[in-house]
Amino acid sequence: MFKTLEKSLDRPLSDLELKKFKHTILNNVDIVKVHIDPVTKKRLTAYFVFNKNEEVIKNQLNSFLNKWNEDLSKKENSKNNVNLINVNEPPIQKLNSCCSNSNNSNISNELLEKKWITILKGRDIGYTEEIVSLLNFFDKSYQDLVISEMSDSHKINKVGFSSLIPKYYMEKLGYFSNSPEHLFFASHLSLDSIEKFTEESKALGGHLPQEEVFFESPEYVLQSAPCFKVYFSLEDEILNENKIFNLKGHCFRNEIKNTYLLERLLNFTQREFVFIGSPEFVVEGRDKSLELTIEWMRKMGISGRCELANDPFFINDDQKQKFNIPSKIKYEVRADIPYKDDSISIASFDTHGDFFSRTFNFKLDNSENTWSGCIGLGIERCVWSFLQQYGLDKEKWPTYVRQNYNK
Ligand SMILES: [Zn+2]
Repeated sequence: MFKTLEKSLDRPLSDLELKKFKHTILNNVDIVKVHIDPVTKKRLTAYFVFNKNEEVIKNQLNSFLNKWNEDLSKKENSKNNVNLINVNEPPIQKLNSCCSNSNNSNISNELLEKKWITILKGRDIGYTEEIVSLLNFFDKSYQDLVISEMSDSHKINKVGFSSLIPKYYMEKLGYFSNSPEHLFFASHLSLDSIEKFTEESKALGGHLPQEEVFFESPEYVLQSAPCFKVYFSLEDEILNENKIFNLKGHCFRNEIKNTYLLERLLNFTQREFVFIGSPEFVVEGRDKSLELTIEWMRKMGISGRCELANDPFFINDDQKQKFNIPSKIKYEVRADIPYKDDSISIASFDTHGDFFSRTFNFKLDNSENTWSGCIGLGIERCVWSFLQQYGLDKEKWPTYVRQNYNK
C-alpha cells in the first residue's frame, strides 16, 4: 500500500526541530508518514501511497530538504548577531491535557458524506448547522473561561475591527519586504477601466479577465491575524494602565496548495486576547492564558500539550536587533490528530517585546519599555481536532460538549 524513499539531512535534528520537521514535511510533501532514525536523527524514511508518481514525490522531497538545510544554515549564521532577552519560561511539562479519545480514523469522508462540510469551488468550503454550532460553542466557552478567570484583576476591553489592513501599517511593519508570501491583497477595478473590463468579460462569456491592467494597485491587504488592529489603533497613544483586549476576527493566509478542510483554511477565525503593558504583565498574561487554554481543553476533552515553537516571527534578524525581543517568542498549544499520529497547532502565544509599541509609538505612562503579547485560538482547528479525536457520533462525545454545544 505504501512505497518508501530514504534520505539524509545535513545534520541531526534537535528534539525541538524534530517536531517542527515532522509537521512541516507532512504539510509540504505529498507523503503520509515520515520516520526519523532515532539514533542518527538524520536519516529519514518517507512513506507515500503506492499509486502516487514517485518522481514527483522525489522532487518535492528534495526541494523541501534543500530549503530546510538552507534555512538552518541561515539561522545559525545570524544567531550570533542578535541580542535577545531572556524571560521566564512557562512550565511546559505541566501544560498538557490528557483525555481518552475514542476515534482513531480520519473523519474527513464522513464529514463530507453527512454534509457537515460542503466543498465549494476554488478550495473554499461551507459549514452546516452542526459545525456552526460547534464553532460558536467552542469560541464562547473559551472566551467565558478566560474572561471569568481574568476579569477580577483586570478590565477586559472588547474591541472589533474590519478584516482589511490599510497598506500604511503593513509598510510600517516591514511586512512586504520581510514576509509577504502568505498575504492576500484586496484590490478593486480602476475607475476608468470598468467599461473595458465589462466588455472583456462579456467577450469571455462572463469569465474574469486576467489582465492586471484593470486593477488599481492594492490599498489594503486582508489581515493575517486580528491582533494587528489593536496595535494600529493605539498608534501615538499613552496608556495609563496595563491593558487586556478581547477580539475575534478573520485570518487570511495564502496556503493555496496546503488547504485541507478545517485543518488548513485560506480564511479562518481566531479568538484573541492581547496584553499590552510592562514586560512582567505581558509574560504573566501569556502564562495565565496558556494555563487557561489547557484547562479549557480538559473541559472540552481535547488532548494536546504546550510546546515551544520555532516559527519565525515575521520580522527578520536585522530588525530584531533594533528592538527588545524575548529569546523565546512563540509557544503553541497543539492538539492530537490520532489517525496520523501527529498534532496540529490550535493556539499560539506570542510575546513581541517592544516591537509593536516602538513601531507604532504607544507607551505605558512614560515607560520606554512597553511590551505586547497575544494569544490566538484557531476556532476551526479546535473543532477539527475535537472531531478527529471523538468522531461524528455524538453519543461518543464528552458529556459537557454533548449537552451544551447546540444550546
Ligand atoms: Zn495575535
